[in-house]
Amino acid sequence: MFWQKNQCRFAVSRTNSLLFARFIEFGYPAFMTEPTLFHKIVSGEIPCDKVYETDEVLGFKDIHPKAPTHILFIAKKEEHFVPSIMDITDETHHVTCMLIRAAREFASKQGIEGYKLSFNCGAKGGQEVFYLHLHFMSQESL
Ligand code: 5GP
Repeated sequence: MFWQKNQCRFAVSRTNSLLFARFIEFGYPAFMTEPTLFHKIVSGEIPCDKVYETDEVLGFKDIHPKAPTHILFIAKKEEHFVPSIMDITDETHHVTCMLIRAAREFASKQGIEGYKLSFNCGAKGGQEVFYLHLHFMSQESL
């Protein structure tokens, strides 16, 4: 029992150290207690079906598509991290533009002529992942 309890404590403290090491490595903001799903997608810890990538923006297929083409666009750099549209400031408002421009470039490269762009804003607005992301939906298939 004593051994099991201490094993458990060791495992927890090891997990925390690894998490802390990842924060340092990937620069997760200090105010965050744990990385979101999309932090893990950016770091490669969780795989995604990537369809667009630049130095600053990543576009990948939504795992539960609500349209024939449903892509999520997110900013990759730590300095561009914003949990939600509701947290946008004068320093980060350009991030929304970055995502919209990426979506437009993606559509143009894919020859998609019509699409819908949306942000779910806050839990009451249907937002589940608190890492700013732009939904790109089109009735046209990739
Ligand atoms: P939100 O509701 O926060 O605006 O959008 C989050 C989106 O992430 C949802 O449309 C959901 O289907 C998608 N999603 C949730 N988990 C995963 C995942 O593990 N991989 C991918 N590619 N998309 C995910």
